[in-house]
Amino acid sequence: MSDSIIDPTTPRKAPKPEVTKIQGRPLKPSTLMMGHGYDPVLSEGSLKPPIFLTSTFAFESAAAGKRHFEGITGKRPGGADGLVYSRFNGPNQEILEDRLGIWDGAEDALSFSSGMTAITVLMLAYASQNDVIVHSGPLYAASEGFVAKVLAKFGVKYVDFPAGATREEIDAVLAKAKAMAAENGGKVCMVYLESPGNPTNALVDVEAVRDARDAALGPECPIAIDNTFLGPLWQRPLDHGADIVVYSLTKYVGGHSDLVAGSIAGARKWMDPVRSLRNTMGGICDPNTAWMLLRSLETVELRMQRAGENAAKVCEFLSQHPKVERLGYLGMIADARQQDIYDRHCLGAGSTFSVFIKGGEAECFRFLDNLTIAKLAVSLGGTETLASHPASMTHLSVAEGRRAELGIGDNLVRISVGIEDADDLIADFEQALEHV
Ligand SMILES: *Cc1c(COP(=O)(O)O)cnc(C)c1O
Repeated sequence: MSDSIIDPTTPRKAPKPEVTKIQGRPLKPSTLMMGHGYDPVLSEGSLKPPIFLTSTFAFESAAAGKRHFEGITGKRPGGADGLVYSRFNGPNQEILEDRLGIWDGAEDALSFSSGMTAITVLMLAYASQNDVIVHSGPLYAASEGFVAKVLAKFGVKYVDFPAGATREEIDAVLAKAKAMAAENGGKVCMVYLESPGNPTNALVDVEAVRDARDAALGPECPIAIDNTFLGPLWQRPLDHGADIVVYSLTKYVGGHSDLVAGSIAGARKWMDPVRSLRNTMGGICDPNTAWMLLRSLETVELRMQRAGENAAKVCEFLSQHPKVERLGYLGMIADARQQDIYDRHCLGAGSTFSVFIKGGEAECFRFLDNLTIAKLAVSLGGTETLASHPASMTHLSVAEGRRAELGIGDNLVRISVGIEDADDLIADFEQALEHV
């Protein structure tokens, strides 16, 4: 009989150490995406990992089963050192998590069934009754709603500050949050950021937030940041003082608009409480989706580079167009403080931006309805170009006053540029603007 795919006597990690360096220097993420964390020898030589469709895993011995459960239940930190049950872990998810961590320089990562599952399990893992969450604004609407409406049911309060806030403004908000927490008999349990904000593209000064957190709260209060819009290529928040980086993998990482998933990454001590709650609640990414994401990670750098180049060309065209009032694009920042944050934090301007059309809803709708290549859909980060109207779609539920405060006017169109030919895209935008 040939060796079985899961040979119970074979150690799960590759017996031969993986090559992670060449000529003394570490391999780059784009190289590691082709093989890191997977040894074909353990799976009949299959070049790509098989998809492990199983609900449970056979233990090599009773003692091994006990050891694995010590990891699952948190008696030993760092999770199980073997596979146990598919709500806790699986081979496809573990390979995915190993590879996701590489992009952000994180010790550990966890995958989830959606970006919102990642965010909600993360927050639930850190928030206790009477605690206060500090967050930047605007957040993705569902994240903001989870804090304000769901966590509120359990006595968790929040204080927010605008994305572009200065060190002094952040200090003031942290002092207020600390006072609120003391009054409630709780603590400030998390600083949660999203940068750039959607759809304004306002950047958060993560380094200033880290300094303010260190001064006011100490390092026990984690800083988490939703890096969906610029990560993993164009912004590396863990290098600037964030502790936990959060993704909707549905967007650039998945990159083909064909799956929904999420992740978090950071030092193992920050991941452990979240892993433990994920073990209880479920919400781990399924093996098929994990496999699709491994496929996507092989091209994430290529796709993001091309989308970024396309966006620069498209924005150059749009910025000169007489029917365009202005752009909210990180490659063309008007504000000196925002430019300073960009220069310190960002490695690229991304491919998702706002176009302010001269006029209002009617003009935007004519523009959107006449696009032929760009599809009219919400979401971002896919291979295809998408366009939407936030005021009447993604941000319709936001109160009008708050919308105005966030700069989400009726004349704002949101565009996520894909990897099509840039000249074709420009021609499409040009002819659609003729109808305005
Ligand atoms: C899409 C998105 C989310 C939610 O992710 P899902 O995968 O749709 O659950 C969270 N944050 C940002 C910035 C997003 O764009």
